Amino acid sequence: MHNLTSLLTGFWSFICGLWVTLVNTVRPPVTFQYPEKYYVPLEGFRGYPALVVDPETGETKCNGCQACARACPLGVIHIETAQREDKKRYPVEWRLEFGRCMVCNLCVEACPFGALTMSPEYEFAEYRPEDLVYTLGNLKLPPEGFEVRRLDGSTVRTGLAGGGRG
Ligand code: SF4
Ligand code: SF4
Repeated sequence: MHNLTSLLTGFWSFICGLWVTLVNTVRPPVTFQYPEKYYVPLEGFRGYPALVVDPETGETKCNGCQACARACPLGVIHIETAQREDKKRYPVEWRLEFGRCMVCNLCVEACPFGALTMSPEYEFAEYRPEDLVYTLGNLKLPPEGFEVRRLDGSTVRTGLAGGGRG
C-alpha cells in the first residue's frame, strides 16, 4: 500500500511538472532580445548621478556648493569651482568615480538646488576601471533626454531630466 501511494504521488508530481512546462511554453515571453529591443527605464530608475542642465541657460544648475560631495558616503564626488565676475561660483570640474558609486541617491537628496538627478542611462560597461570616471563634460543630463541608437539604426529618446528627484 505504501509503495502504491508513493507511486501515485510521484506520478501526480510528474503531471504537475508537465503542466507547468506546457503552460509556460504557450505563454508570451516576458523577456526580450537586448539590444535589438531597448528597455526604457521607468521614472525613478537609478543609473548614475548626473548634472541637470538649465534649459534657459544651457548650463548646469550646479554652483559647486559641495553638499553632494559631503553627503557621499564613499567620497567619489570631486568638485573644483571658480568665481564669476558677479561673484557667483560655478564648477570648473565635477568628477565622479562611478566605478565605486553604489547609486544610493544620497548625493541627489543632498543637493539644495535640484542640480543633480539619477541618470536613466544603464549602458556603461567598460573594459577599464578608469573609463568609469566621469567628468563635467559627460555628466550633463540634457533637458531633452538622451538619444540612444539601437542596432537596427533607429533611435529612442530616454531619460528626460527630472531635476533633483529625491
Ligand atoms: S549615488 Fe551614493 S555613492 Fe554614488 S555618488 Fe551619490 S552619494 Fe556617492
Ligand atoms: S550639491 Fe548640487 S549644487 Fe552643490 S555641488 Fe553638488 S550638484 Fe552642485
